[in-house]
Parts: sequence; C-alpha cells; structure tokens
Amino acid sequence: MIFAVHKSSNFNCNLVSKISNLMRSMSSSKKQKIRDEGRMFNDEWFVKYYVVQQNEKALCLICRNYIACLKEFNIKRHYNSRHSENTREF
Ligand SMILES: [Zn+2]
Repeated sequence: MIFAVHKSSNFNCNLVSKISNLMRSMSSSKKQKIRDEGRMFNDEWFVKYYVVQQNEKALCLICRNYIACLKEFNIKRHYNSRHSENTREF
C-alpha cells in the first residue's frame, strides 16, 4: 500500500493511524473468525469421538472414514449418527 507524502503531515498521520487501526482490527477479526470456526483439531475429540487429525481432515478410527471438516459439529454428528451406543457394531 502506498501513501502519498504531503506537507500537511498532520492529516497524513491521522489517516495512516486510522488505516493501520482499521487493518489491525480487520486482521484480528479474521483470526477471531478462524478460531470461532473451530479449524483447530481438538485433542478432546479423540477421547470423545475416536477421531484423529489427518492432514486437513479428521479420520474416524471406528469406521476409517474421513470427516471432511475439522469441526466438532461435523465430527459429533458423524459419531452420533454412526457410532452412538445403539448402532455400535462391536
Ligand atoms: Zn466413523
């Protein structure tokens, strides 16, 4: 990003600090969003749902199928629909 330098430096300083604040808040909200989406593999999921992380996916150790999203919602749904107490095959 290029900022033109003028002699009215006060105006520029304000503008630069405004933009840098804006960029900082944008990048922090982006990080927040990633954390909220639960992209990180959670070790608890191994204990709760018998899945391990494989690349960008979760591998179910019970049926050896991949769960495409590293989200607890998807993993939990997989576990509940296929491996809940009533439908467990072993
Ligand atoms: Zn499974």
